Amino acid sequence: MAVTVLIPTPLRPYVGGRDSLELEGASVGELLERLSGEHTALKQHLFADDGRLRSFVNVYVNDRDIRQLAQRDTPVKAGDTVSIIPSIAGGTAVAEALPKLSHEEILRYSRHLILPDVGLEGQKKLKAARVLLVGAGGLGSPAALYLAAAGVGTVGIVDFDVVDKTNLQRQIVHGTSTVGTSKLASATARIRDLNPNVRVEPFETRLTSENALDIIREFDVVADGTDNFPTRYLVNDACVLLGKPNVYGSIFRFEGQASVFDAKRGPCYRCLYSEPPPPGLVPSCAEGGVLGVLPGIIGSIQAMETIKLILGAGDPLIGRLLLFDALKLQFRELKLAKDPDCPVCGPHATITELIDYEAFCGIGAEPAYDGAEITAHELEQEWRGNPDMLVIDVRESHEYEITHIDGSRLIPLGELPQRLGELDGHREIVTFCHHGARSLKALEILKAAGFAKVRSLRGGIDAWAVTVDPSLPRY
Ligand code: ZN
Repeated sequence: MAVTVLIPTPLRPYVGGRDSLELEGASVGELLERLSGEHTALKQHLFADDGRLRSFVNVYVNDRDIRQLAQRDTPVKAGDTVSIIPSIAGGTAVAEALPKLSHEEILRYSRHLILPDVGLEGQKKLKAARVLLVGAGGLGSPAALYLAAAGVGTVGIVDFDVVDKTNLQRQIVHGTSTVGTSKLASATARIRDLNPNVRVEPFETRLTSENALDIIREFDVVADGTDNFPTRYLVNDACVLLGKPNVYGSIFRFEGQASVFDAKRGPCYRCLYSEPPPPGLVPSCAEGGVLGVLPGIIGSIQAMETIKLILGAGDPLIGRLLLFDALKLQFRELKLAKDPDCPVCGPHATITELIDYEAFCGIGAEPAYDGAEITAHELEQEWRGNPDMLVIDVRESHEYEITHIDGSRLIPLGELPQRLGELDGHREIVTFCHHGARSLKALEILKAAGFAKVRSLRGGIDAWAVTVDPSLPRY
């Protein structure tokens, strides 16, 4: 077994277009000499006249930078991988006039046209491509912007939401001037401004089992930027049934995931996660928060993979799950295998048409809360008449610092089971949180522990700030 030497894109023309070579050698120096001996045109790019490795070329052995070591003497053994990584600047050469694109497009896409892996043919492929973005939110924003900027001819967007001020921290396709308008209208206007050559096909609707096949059928690639499990499984199943690649991205707090699910060539989302987590186990970004730049990184990776699929360039993220940890600034990659028992892409698939995804994800099966909720207005009235009422804030302490209701008591949801002894079961209890979801879980915990007189504030402190005390900030 020899040592694998990975050749970077700019140097491939000097080794017959190959991206890697198998060479025999005991040290890095021996390998590089053999390499430049076999491919003489490469020598001047790797070595200066005095025989030293050029300073803009770095060499890694098995991902380890060996610049600090005596480079040439660094030993290598069979099975090692040596990477040659030159510094790469943006290209600045002027593109030649190309007849099939307008003058404006040639100028606009010049940095693509001079890339060997894109060129005129690739740019035409991009112009002919039809990409569907599911969601114009955190992931859809950078994806839409980069796909439009790159010259993808048709960008379909499915979204039915309205731009909210809390979106602007990360959903960069929208702006302050479009708060309150539909996300589709907002994204369409921004894309038109960015690149009027792009046709936007808006679908102002929720993607459902009834419309998904008809919408997705018309597109070449789907980029999934949804924020909920029913839509994720719906997009996956529809893509598998229609044979379309599904470029997946997901984010939570400081972590992201990306992959390309193309059941014809690799696993699908169900091969990875055959079942969704129970409702409420994984908090949404609205509940758990998300760092603003994170969807920018993951959504950009989705745009990158989409463009690679259109061009047929490089190695797509098929069969690989990319994990990104923003706090450690670390990417990890896991190999994904196709599940032979996958119910939608396996040889014995049982899902041959779209199903009820809300039911599949256990949504709608939550217990009914009739009479267990109280409105902000009712709470204010009752509390005034009964100052003995226990109003419990089950949010986290860092949320309490943002804003709180005077007279309430902070017991974060996670601490509640251990702190039940602090509560007097004879008093009326009202739980509240940010929007009213966690407080229902608190209500269940209290009821299960025998507390009888418990209710939950519908809409949480946000509803309180809107209807009772406008002096409180909303977040
Ligand atoms: Zn599958």
